[in-house]
Amino acid sequence: MPELAEVEYYRKKWNPGLGQRVEKVLTRPKARIYRDIPAPSIRKGLLGRTLVESQTHGKQMMFTFSEGAWMGLHLGMTGKLFTEGLDYEPVKSDHLVLVTETNQLVFSDYRMFGKLTLDLTEHEAGPEWWRELPPRTLDRGFSKKAHATFVRRFPRTPLKTLLLDQRGYPGIGNWMADEICWRLRIPPQTRVGEIDDEALDAIWKMTRQVSRDALRVIGDTWDTPPKSWLFTHRWKDGGSCPRRGCGVDLQRADLRGRTTCWCPQCQAEG
Ligand SMILES: [Zn+2]
Repeated sequence: MPELAEVEYYRKKWNPGLGQRVEKVLTRPKARIYRDIPAPSIRKGLLGRTLVESQTHGKQMMFTFSEGAWMGLHLGMTGKLFTEGLDYEPVKSDHLVLVTETNQLVFSDYRMFGKLTLDLTEHEAGPEWWRELPPRTLDRGFSKKAHATFVRRFPRTPLKTLLLDQRGYPGIGNWMADEICWRLRIPPQTRVGEIDDEALDAIWKMTRQVSRDALRVIGDTWDTPPKSWLFTHRWKDGGSCPRRGCGVDLQRADLRGRTTCWCPQCQAEG
C-alpha cells in the first residue's frame, strides 16, 4: 500500500496537467472508488476547470481546480496516477481520465480500494475534512510535545501498531513503521506505555528522519533505497539484518493483523 513517499511520487505524475483546462472527463459509472458521488456529478464538477495545484497529506492527495473545486484521492492498495498523450486508449481499470488540451491524466486502480471525493468550496484552504487532518510528520505541528501527548493515550498498544495510526502518524505505513523500529533498535511489539520519555523523543525524531529519507529516495523518482536500510530486505522471506556487524536472520510475524519484520538481535526484547 502506498505510504507518504509513494503518494508524493504519484501526485507529481499529474504535474504535466497543471495550468491546463479539463476539456473532457471520462468516468466508469460502476467504479467503487467514487463511493457516494454519482459519476455525472464528477464530470459536471470538473469539466471546464483548470488544474491549479496539488498537495499530499500522508496517504491523501488533493487536486485543486479553478473556481473552488477540490478533488481528494486516496490510492488504496493499487491506485496509480499517470499522464498519457492524447492517443492513449484508456483501459478498464482507468476509472477517471481528465482530458486536457495536450494530455490525459489517468487514475487507475484495478482492485478499487482507492477513493475519490469532490468538494465544491470557495474556502481557500480546501474542504473541512482536509483542513482537519492531523499535522504531517514533517510539519511544525508534529512537535515533540504533540507527539508525546498522542502516544500517551495508547499505553497498551504495540509501538509498531501505533506507528500505523493515521491520526498520529499520517502517511506512515507498514515498511516505514518497521524501518523506524529497526533503526531505533526497539522491538516492534513493545507496548508504548513501557517506553520512557527519552525514547519517545527518539521515536519522534526518527519518524521525521525516515519520512525525509523516504521522500528523498522515493518521492521524486522512486529509486531503490540503499541496502543499508531494512527496506530492501524486509519484503521477501529470509534475508538478514543489514546493520554492520549484525547479519542475523530477520524475523517476521503477524502483529495485530500486519506482517512485521525485525532483527531479533538488534531489537531483542529486554
Ligand atoms: Zn540486526
